[in-house]
Amino acid sequence: MTIDSNKKKIIVAIDGPSGSGKSTVAQNLALSIGYNVLDTGALYRSIALQAVRCGVSWDNAVELEKISQKLSVTFKTYRHGTKVYMNGEDVSALLRNPHIADGASRLSTFSIVRSALLDLQRQMGERGGIIAEGRDIASVVFPQAPVKIFLTASLAKRAGRRHAEFKTKGIVLPLEQITEQISVRDQRDRNREIAPLLCTEDAETIDSSFLSVDEIVDQIKCLILVAEKQ
Ligand code: C5P
Repeated sequence: MTIDSNKKKIIVAIDGPSGSGKSTVAQNLALSIGYNVLDTGALYRSIALQAVRCGVSWDNAVELEKISQKLSVTFKTYRHGTKVYMNGEDVSALLRNPHIADGASRLSTFSIVRSALLDLQRQMGERGGIIAEGRDIASVVFPQAPVKIFLTASLAKRAGRRHAEFKTKGIVLPLEQITEQISVRDQRDRNREIAPLLCTEDAETIDSSFLSVDEIVDQIKCLILVAEKQ
């Protein structure tokens, strides 16, 4: 399937829980159709990392707001993955640390942090041509996105994927511990008061448990093709 590069470029929203495959799907999709990836989880993770570096607690909303307002993050999609640069430094590997993921999940409950990042995300997406992935993309950040996907998978599958991902990065954690961490993060993301993880009524749900990345990418590409013509 080919996508005409002269066509209007839209915003594609992909939401879903940890380990559902959002990043891999967004990355492959972006490369295949000439879009950019907006990994919104990386923004929350960057704040968590910057807080650690500045000695700021993940509970300190006032200081976290200052960090969020000064945050400068850019993304570059390469064939082997999307790199995240914080103030020009490649922090991609540091952001994948489970400790930083926990911090991101904790500080993402603060409205003060979310609203600072909301403006940033909208600026990043204003020209279209992006695959934005996160938890509240379809519901809050880009409710007007013409293609909305809710990507999910069983907890066991998601934990297994994280386990394999960590292994390739030299992070050795028992599967049970990863399952527990993901489950805690899911609960927090689904039950927080502001912008919780949810599937909007107009989103297409895709269960990635038994589908290959290529199958999912093809499915979403069909939806994009239709939306680009409208
Ligand atoms: O997607 P990722 O695992 O990188 O996200 C890390 C954390 O950032 C999530 O657990 C979630 O708490 C938070 N997040 C969010 N809203 C988003 C993206 C991520 O609250 N749009």
